[in-house]
Amino acid sequence: MERNYGILLHGGARSEKINASSNRAKKMCKFIAHASNEGYFLLKQGNSAIDAVEYAIIMMEDSGIFNAGRGSCLTIDGRMEMDASIMSGIDLSAGSVGMVQGISNPIKLARHVMERSKHVMLVSKGALEFANFMHMPPKEIHPEKKILDKYMKLKKTFKHYWNEKYNMPYDELEALGQQGTVGAVALDTDGNLASAVSTGGRWLKMSGRIGDSAIIGGGIYADNRLGAVCATGNGEFIMRLCLSKYACDIMKRRNASESSRRAIKHLTNLFGKNTGGMISIDSGGGIGISHNTPYMPVSFVSSRDEKNITYLSMV
Ligand code: ASP
Repeated sequence: MERNYGILLHGGARSEKINASSNRAKKMCKFIAHASNEGYFLLKQGNSAIDAVEYAIIMMEDSGIFNAGRGSCLTIDGRMEMDASIMSGIDLSAGSVGMVQGISNPIKLARHVMERSKHVMLVSKGALEFANFMHMPPKEIHPEKKILDKYMKLKKTFKHYWNEKYNMPYDELEALGQQGTVGAVALDTDGNLASAVSTGGRWLKMSGRIGDSAIIGGGIYADNRLGAVCATGNGEFIMRLCLSKYACDIMKRRNASESSRRAIKHLTNLFGKNTGGMISIDSGGGIGISHNTPYMPVSFVSSRDEKNITYLSMV
């Protein structure tokens, strides 16, 4: 019997209200469907799950539609500081970068950390020095007008916090809908699993803040014996629960769907609603999609029927 393979993507667990037939929703769905088709095409040609998740994330970083790569949100000081990580389920090898600036595709750098360095995580100046070695020198990235406009608007709304930036009311801020991290999980024709994530983090975060997306076991986890997981949402909560590793461990006895459901229930029980979402894939190719936010864009293609299934998952 031929082995099942496939790829599942998310475009962030989001809190704002959205009309599923709006142009914005259509644009997001169209793009995420395109990225999952391309990832699937790579798998079909016999490429690895790592190649497929990296490629799909690069596409989403380059799109400017999501909170990643050139679409990244800004710190309270108006800078882009991005986090990304990637993990292979074959041997638990992993790479991550934190608070990198001027790198168009942080996921590529995370993969270089995994494959070309002896470390798992590089941050800040050291990560940029390594980027130079890898022939991807940091460049000045000028945020697009829509990002600068959003920054100015938030600056006005939250002006009372400007002198106390360590005290920013992120719950209030996120209720305005400022998310859109991108994540991917995949299973390839050899039965290998991989997971990847990339983000600008949280709007108006303090400079130096690193979120769950750079933390192996927090934002992602992959283990061929169990499954591959990618989380999104409030990074401060997700990393304290080591949520992706938690979900992966559930797959010792349960499928991906049940594991995501239980992990998000755990997140909700401890930290409340509107705190996050998750996608997962198990070693049999079963998938899980769960979130406690109003919606999360997802896209999935598998060798079972080769149909692209893309929608705004709503609760
Ligand atoms: N988890 C990301 C962070 O906290 C944000 C997100 O997933 O939207 O940096």
